[in-house]
Amino acid sequence: MFRDFNFTSYKFLAVTAAFFALAGMVNFFEPISLVVKSLSNKIRLHDASGEFVIVNIDDYAAQNGFSTPLPAKYADHLFRSLLDAGAEKVVLSEPVSIGSPEETDRLKELLAENETKLFIAQPQQHEQNAGSIMWEEYISSPIAVHAYRDRMFWGGIKTIPYAQTVNGRSVISAQSALTEVYGTINQNFHIDYAIDVNSLTYASFNDATIPNMIELARGKKIIIGYEASHKARALRIIGREGRFGIPTIIALGAETLGQAKPKHLGAAWTLTLALLFAWCILGIRHLKWQIFASSAAVLSVFGLTILLNNANVSLNTAEALCLILFVTPFAFFKSSRAKVIRESATHPDSGLPSVNALRLESNIEKPLIVCRMEKFDELMGLLSPEQRITLAERISSLATTDSDIWHGDDGHFYWFIDQDQAENLDGHIQSLSVIMRNGFSIGHFPISMQTVFGLDLRYEQKMSDRIMGANLAAKQATLKGAAWHTYEAADQSEAAWEITQLRELDVAIKTDQIVAYLQPKVSLQTGATTGAEALARWTHPIRGAIRPDEFVATAEAGGRIKELTISVMRSALATVQPAITADPDFKIAVNITPSLLADRTLCHTVSSLLAQYKISPANLILEVIESTAFSDNETCFETMHELVSMGVTLSIDDYGTGNSTLDYLRKIPARELKIDREFVSDILTSEEDSALVQSTIRLAHKLKMKVVAEGVEDSPTLEKLRIMGCDQVQGYLISHPLSGENFLQFISNIIGNNKKVQN
Ligand code: C2E
Ligand code: CA
Ligand code: CA
Repeated sequence: MFRDFNFTSYKFLAVTAAFFALAGMVNFFEPISLVVKSLSNKIRLHDASGEFVIVNIDDYAAQNGFSTPLPAKYADHLFRSLLDAGAEKVVLSEPVSIGSPEETDRLKELLAENETKLFIAQPQQHEQNAGSIMWEEYISSPIAVHAYRDRMFWGGIKTIPYAQTVNGRSVISAQSALTEVYGTINQNFHIDYAIDVNSLTYASFNDATIPNMIELARGKKIIIGYEASHKARALRIIGREGRFGIPTIIALGAETLGQAKPKHLGAAWTLTLALLFAWCILGIRHLKWQIFASSAAVLSVFGLTILLNNANVSLNTAEALCLILFVTPFAFFKSSRAKVIRESATHPDSGLPSVNALRLESNIEKPLIVCRMEKFDELMGLLSPEQRITLAERISSLATTDSDIWHGDDGHFYWFIDQDQAENLDGHIQSLSVIMRNGFSIGHFPISMQTVFGLDLRYEQKMSDRIMGANLAAKQATLKGAAWHTYEAADQSEAAWEITQLRELDVAIKTDQIVAYLQPKVSLQTGATTGAEALARWTHPIRGAIRPDEFVATAEAGGRIKELTISVMRSALATVQPAITADPDFKIAVNITPSLLADRTLCHTVSSLLAQYKISPANLILEVIESTAFSDNETCFETMHELVSMGVTLSIDDYGTGNSTLDYLRKIPARELKIDREFVSDILTSEEDSALVQSTIRLAHKLKMKVVAEGVEDSPTLEKLRIMGCDQVQGYLISHPLSGENFLQFISNIIGNNKKVQN
């Protein structure tokens, strides 16, 4: 349930605790504290002891036409009546004004006789000015009652001082006077508002009720005052509607002191407890346990508060509860993030640590190796979950060091090798490749894997960069057909080039960076140049000349092959116009990919291009490499027939390299067959190649096709082809592919030479 704590949790907790403690000090949580208190008061609601009786003099005052201060005559009357009724102590919560000397003396006498029984509120400075008696002149124990002046923003008071300094004199509170529970000056106690106000005893004083009061006041402690006095002096009670007079507050305070000596523990204890809970909540992994712990924490803090309150111990709870509620969402967030990381830290297929886990690893100063297995995902798809684990174990054993092995996507596995292995990397990787290629079996499943390795030696780089470096290196190895490659900065630009190539190709097509070079085709019977093949050339402003092998595939994969073909065809047609004018039988050959034959608009595109350059379809050859894609696509054959009916000649390119069948030869309406360079170049040395070429020529002739041999680099080969009956040749012996200008120059030279020969 718990996991290791990291430094951030401690720091987070410390900062949070400090913040809540400080906020608590400036009463930031007061509103929440009120809510909590009113709830706990509702729960703890209990009856008053009945020891105290409030005598409300509102009616009496109204009858006799006075308010405050109370005339000495009436104070005297009240005290005497209540003492006669058997009251134990009497507190008058109002100051008394000076009456006639006799009245005042009479009262002074009464007070002196009953020093421990009768108390009068000590007036404040301004009340004295209004004509109140300076009681210190008369009595030794005045009491302090001015709670309404300490009111808090919510309209009530939370605490009462046991004693105060009033007019330079130490004065005890009415509550202390009533209960004889004393404290030091300015020491506060918290009023227990859970005492039910409804259970307090109230009596209304007027002369008519004196007889009834005897019953009520006997043996009781009396608090006299204005209960329904004007609003300015009314106070609120936590957890209760309405406002109450000062006598009620005095009664509640006295009840509080009567329960047990009150204690206040402040916020420190509850905060510490909350912090402990918060620490646990943050340490829990699972959401449901966090919810449980958080609720338990809130309930415990709250419950503890109620328990202690019952023992008259008050606490600041709001800070603690807020801290718990504040920390909980953080814990939720933290655990859900941890869960995501945990889940992504193991590869679901193999159970090995994932590449995400490797990314989080702090740097390891060893060469990082990635092994990429071809068709790994396909293989995984064929295996049962148990077999996948077995395979992962087999792969894990590739790491001969004590390094972990991490599993990435698409069959990438990563581990660290030792420095000495890096020194003999060739040998090391050769042996790894051999292990994987020779294979092993899982259950009855024979497994043999093609692998390629990438290496990253940049120890100072971030782990994620090193992973990318190793991946790029592996990619580079694949491109080069090597078993492994070590990451170099240049690989980055290679990779970038691969990504931007398509976009650059678009620009190239638009800005005529791609042109057709022309390679002459020569008749073996007459030695004349009968035509030429157009070969795409890309002159990149920065990278220079780029071979078609590099970009034709990109164009094909990126869906730009049609645009590329059109621009090559335009360039070729524009160049050969004069050659066709000079020799109407001249044929220009353009390469097209099989995918273009599946495009129904090809014929239209071709015929409009021809019309644009005023060239007859009879002067055009389209070279198509053999492709299995035709066999299941009727459109390709329809296009071929339509092209033929237009008058265009079709040629089978690279004959012999693909998987051409006799059926295919029969079905394609081609009039020309080009034997691939691969077979032509060795006819002098290889009997097999020679036999193949010879039989191909015979077969083609039987099918009424002309045969062109590609890649003729020397005259003996050319002579042999002539003897074999080949119709035309193409190759470096005659000419390399030439730019348009050079090609025209080439032809005019030949024509010129021919003329010279004729002359
Ligand atoms: P391909 O159609 O077989 O073209 C012949 C390739 O052989 C050309 O390479 C040419 O330069 C090269 N070659 C010609 N004579 C000799 C020789 O005597 N010895 C050797 N070693 N090579 C010779 P290139 O220009 O690099 O073109 C490569 C391939 O790119 C072409 O093979 C063709 O399949 C494709 N390609 C070129 N241009 C286009 C095009 O415009 N569209 C399409 N779809 N493919 C094109
Ligand atoms: Ca070709
Ligand atoms: Ca070819």
